[in-house]
Amino acid sequence: MRRRIFTDFDGPIMDVSERYYQVYLYCLDKICKPEQVVTTLSKSEFWELKRSQVTEKEIASLSGFEDEKQSVAFAHLRRATVHTNPYFSYDRLLENAIPALEKAQQLKIDLAVMTMRRRSELEPVLDKYNLRRFFPSDRIFCLDDDYVKTVDIQDKPKLMKMAQANLPVVQQQWMIGDTEADIIAAQTYDVPAIAVLSGIRNHTQLEKYKPNQIAPNLICAINELVDL
Ligand SMILES: [Mg+2]
Repeated sequence: MRRRIFTDFDGPIMDVSERYYQVYLYCLDKICKPEQVVTTLSKSEFWELKRSQVTEKEIASLSGFEDEKQSVAFAHLRRATVHTNPYFSYDRLLENAIPALEKAQQLKIDLAVMTMRRRSELEPVLDKYNLRRFFPSDRIFCLDDDYVKTVDIQDKPKLMKMAQANLPVVQQQWMIGDTEADIIAAQTYDVPAIAVLSGIRNHTQLEKYKPNQIAPNLICAINELVDL
């Protein structure tokens, strides 16, 4: 039986928490007025807020930017900075990711990566960690460098549409990801969705979108689905 796993990149494979935290620290510093007292959240406080989907404006106000103008400026600067160099260099490969991908490959499960990263943000990282052995070029679904982003929950289903139209048919397929965008992209095309907790959403947030399963991380997700 032919089986396929689509995996998201950030969340199941890469840990982006340090990048997001470093950008938070940068924005705090840039938006802060001289003499202004701010409250710097710890990394774990900050990341738990992100996982709970607390908005950037709320994170700004929790950090001491009480006036509206400052919290809006903070949110804008964050958005403009988070997907830029040198911040990508803070990303780390999750420890379970390679063993998980190797296991899927040993089981002859077809692998594809589906990510909202742009090609130029993805390919150097695939090379850096030798991940192309899992994802040949026709199994890479990402945004072109000139693609005009809308919102993830609209952009990601477009990638799934392309994948479903172009890849060989399989008897079983799954999408593994860490956000609502992954779940919605999968559900739109009747692909079962497995949410993982190793990324930017917590259990409470993921549950709202009714994934087929919620697993701690990529390797647990793969273990569960091969047992089905
Ligand atoms: Mg993700």
